[in-house]
Amino acid sequence: MTSAHDPVTHRSDDSIPMTRSRTIRRVVLAEAAVLIGATAIAGRHPRAALAAIAAGSMAGWATFRPGSPIYGPVPSHGPTDAPFAALTFDDGPGPSTPAILDALRDEGVRATFFILGRQAARHPEMVRRIRDEGHQIGSHGYDHGILVWRGPGYVRRQIDRTADAITAAAGPGALSPIFRAPHGFRGPTTWAAVRSAGYRLMGWSKGVFDSANPGADVVVQRSTAALTRGCILLLHDADGWAPDAPRDDTAAAIPGICAAARDQGLELVTLNELGV
Ligand SMILES: [Zn+2]
Repeated sequence: MTSAHDPVTHRSDDSIPMTRSRTIRRVVLAEAAVLIGATAIAGRHPRAALAAIAAGSMAGWATFRPGSPIYGPVPSHGPTDAPFAALTFDDGPGPSTPAILDALRDEGVRATFFILGRQAARHPEMVRRIRDEGHQIGSHGYDHGILVWRGPGYVRRQIDRTADAITAAAGPGALSPIFRAPHGFRGPTTWAAVRSAGYRLMGWSKGVFDSANPGADVVVQRSTAALTRGCILLLHDADGWAPDAPRDDTAAAIPGICAAARDQGLELVTLNELGV
């Protein structure tokens, strides 16, 4: 891990995280350029045109499918031969994290939190509480900047700054070496950069789009439908782009999600306990 004094930490190109919409726009433009180029050469070089279109489609799929293996393997499921599943929470800690921790404590459930370094610096006491209550902590990068167009140095700085913030909040050993990319979006260099930092990339089985605040009942319904043996459920205890936004629906849904798991004979565990 580099220290907080790392002179490259504050390079200007790090200061503006790339958002989801900018990333998608860029990829669409790149795909359009591939298509135009392929069309232009299709008459003379039909095979090359087809290969270019196939490669372009594959790159788009690899970027946006969180479990796609093309840019490196990403676990998205635990073993299906045992009655365990995992709740995971991204983007926090934030204003709703204490309510989510209260609900998990009342249910006797441990989960995994993929923490943003920026949020750990804002809410160190919540990071300590997450650790103290037996939950697992992973890294979600520092400021939710999307990695698709970034080189390995940028990925490394996101990881190292987050490790520094979590360690400052909760001490060495609080952070497990697992990393979940913002939105699960990856570029060609992401996997190798994450591995070289000593981390494993982690995906998820099902998202229930609690980030759209659909109401607690809907979050429970979707989670109930998603929960199966080995499932890694993606939830959010905060908002990656709006640090002060609450996740009241998610907090209110926890008892219903835990009851649904129990009804299905599933024990909810951390990713470490799930064995991924
Ligand atoms: Zn996120």
